[in-house]
Amino acid sequence: MPWWKPMNRSSSPAHPNRRASGRSGPLLERLLMTSARHGRVTHVEHVPARQAGQAQWPDWVPDAVRERLEGQGVTGLWPHQFAAAEHVSRGQNVIISTGTASGKSLAYLVPAVTGILSGATVLYLTPTKALAADQLRALSALSLDQVRPATFDGDTPMEERAWIRRHANYVLTNPDMLHRSMLPRHAAWTSFWRRLSLVIVDECHGYRGVFGSHVAQILRRLRRVAAKYGARPVFFLASATASEPGTTGMRLTGLEMAEVTLDASPRGATTIALWEPPLTDLRGEGGAPVRRTATAEAADLLADLVLDGVRTLAFVRSRRAAETVALSARSHLHDTELALGVHARPSRAGMSTPVLPELRLADKVAAYRAGYLAEDRRLLEKALRSGELLGVATTNALELGVDVSGLDAVLIAGWPGTRASLWQQAGRAGRDGQDALAVLIARDDPLDTYLVHHPEALFGHPVEATVLDPDNPYVLAPHLCAAASEIPLSEEDYLIFGPAALGVLDELVARGLLRRRTTGWFWTSRDRAVDLADIRGSGGSPVQIVESGTGRLLGTVDEASAHGTVHTGAVHIHRGDTYVVDEFDLEAGVALVSAAQPDYSTFARDITDIRVIESLRSRVLGPGELHFGSVEVTRQVVSYLKRRTQTGEVLGDDPLDLPPRTLRTRAVWWTLPNSALAEIDPRTDLGGAAHAAEHAAIGLLPLFATCDRWDIGGVSTELHPDTGLLTVFVYDGHDGGAGFAERGYAHAADWLTATRDAIASCECDRGCPSCIQSPKCGNGNEPLDKAGALRLLGILLAPYIESSEAPGGSDNWPDSDLSPSDSITRVT
Ligand SMILES: [Zn+2]
Ligand SMILES: [Zn+2]
Repeated sequence: MPWWKPMNRSSSPAHPNRRASGRSGPLLERLLMTSARHGRVTHVEHVPARQAGQAQWPDWVPDAVRERLEGQGVTGLWPHQFAAAEHVSRGQNVIISTGTASGKSLAYLVPAVTGILSGATVLYLTPTKALAADQLRALSALSLDQVRPATFDGDTPMEERAWIRRHANYVLTNPDMLHRSMLPRHAAWTSFWRRLSLVIVDECHGYRGVFGSHVAQILRRLRRVAAKYGARPVFFLASATASEPGTTGMRLTGLEMAEVTLDASPRGATTIALWEPPLTDLRGEGGAPVRRTATAEAADLLADLVLDGVRTLAFVRSRRAAETVALSARSHLHDTELALGVHARPSRAGMSTPVLPELRLADKVAAYRAGYLAEDRRLLEKALRSGELLGVATTNALELGVDVSGLDAVLIAGWPGTRASLWQQAGRAGRDGQDALAVLIARDDPLDTYLVHHPEALFGHPVEATVLDPDNPYVLAPHLCAAASEIPLSEEDYLIFGPAALGVLDELVARGLLRRRTTGWFWTSRDRAVDLADIRGSGGSPVQIVESGTGRLLGTVDEASAHGTVHTGAVHIHRGDTYVVDEFDLEAGVALVSAAQPDYSTFARDITDIRVIESLRSRVLGPGELHFGSVEVTRQVVSYLKRRTQTGEVLGDDPLDLPPRTLRTRAVWWTLPNSALAEIDPRTDLGGAAHAAEHAAIGLLPLFATCDRWDIGGVSTELHPDTGLLTVFVYDGHDGGAGFAERGYAHAADWLTATRDAIASCECDRGCPSCIQSPKCGNGNEPLDKAGALRLLGILLAPYIESSEAPGGSDNWPDSDLSPSDSITRVT
């Protein structure tokens, strides 16, 4: 259960007349002093403060460890830390899934150090250097001679590596190093593996999609290598809150996991407001109304809060947006000061001191971003802490220094993608137990629309799960080669790599990559097997992003998404900086870019064809059918749309000349028989209705699977040649699939109900970007039929709608009760 899940939650569904206790009430009321804003708050959630649970020490903690921690003011483990640590001490794998700042690290630190004192070694995996540095600090602070921690990453000097291999007993590394160095050279780490008792996988919700699937295979290889040296380490996974953490842990490691989800850390009260900017008079594609942008709204709110002396952070998506929000908040403040005559205020008569310093509120607002020098960032952090700065616009909670917390208010411009990020950002508000305000401002996107109208999806049980698919053959194959080169594979290895390995092994033998002998499968090539797996990309050689003027390599994008993200003319945001692509050289695999500050963003549009290869699972869904299976997708990026960043206004659609790409992947699709459509309102444009439902469904899938709408695609048609019926497909945009479509299949009723609700919630008449228009539609958002989409989904979901009138109870809407068990049917 997440930290904000209160025992006695109080909430008001509409306009917040109710005063929340503490300071947060006035903070929100301040923002609502402008009457035009009243309708924009769709929900207010008051999360009361939580008292800490009783802290105590497990009886197995050695005195030395307890004393050192008590010396740092730690009086014991809170109940959730205690429970997780107990699992480790009993030799059980465990995943702890609790909120930001709930003290997960203490839960593994205590058993880890305890193990080391009795001669064991510990492996700590983290996706970021910052976390490894935090861990290292915490370990050093214990100053226990027996604990010899060391970071082993790409920056570790060669001369230190030998010492680490031989003497370190708490090794901090990342999946890349494990994959490329520690596992292939396992013999050099013999004494480390022999004593390995605990593997800690921190921030494990970050391992999702294709990358997560690679990490899952690396962890299986790790288990094999450890077993060779007689070790069976316990796995400790730390995750942000998500649904089904045990299932995620199982997929990531292949091992049964105990779950710890009850958070017992203390927390100040927070008021969370959901905010929807109004529709404007501007017209977008097809004459659709354009909503005021979340960044423009955030700039206004930031200025108002700063005017009242409220310390506020505004989270935005890009560095450019951070600069824009700061700039426009400053200009509002400047105008306000002029209007109030502040600058002209004379000094008080009779005082000997010179003229009073001008207030210059505008100077109290700044942008903060990773591109700044470390010392500049530290200065900004210090100014924010001291109150010299009151408002800061920034890109990402993780880029902020740890000390930037304890603010009064946080503005979040646009859904940050996952609940984990939302709480990470909202968690920055709340100073010394004082009440705080967090405002989530919706962007013009179906998921944002849905969330601000369905607070139960945010404040109830989590629905989003960390999704990965270790069985993806494109991922599995290179890791089987790597595993065979580490230790020849044998029949028993199915237990580790799963049943999908069998078919893949046969294929690897046929391709001449592995050799089959009576004793198993062998890697006989002189090449390094690990080079076959590009764990950060998704197959194909990545496209290089090169700065035109300097020839500097800025980074890479995987080949699969290059057509859509770095085509000629694309505005590309790389690590928060904005570039325009001068030329995309397909042959050379290079995108030449120049730094620029265009006032628009670009959206690639593609046209897609889909062919069903095989339906792997299917079941009845209302009067229709739902399928999950393999498909072949042919996608061609045909043009790109330019939209003004500040207003969302459409500036034009420029054609592109790119070849089609073919992708073998997984899809979920639903069909409706003609009999079910016979009674539909004759005004319905069936093609437009299916198309609209597809767009919105793509927008909503990230609510259930931790993906981005750009990770998935869709095709809809009134009559698909492979099904002979009206069909809507949603597919994974990565070779072999990433698990997102599968998650859609498993939660189809909830997902499609949310899709229908998102469309119904939007107040536009005929469709807009907040509901059924898609920024990446290859057909220029034509045809679309909003009312028709609601009718189609109504027919499909009729049994679910009748069985429950309460849309909030989505957890009680089983997919399976109303449908027979899965069956295997071959469609083509
Ligand atoms: Zn709309
Ligand atoms: Zn479309």
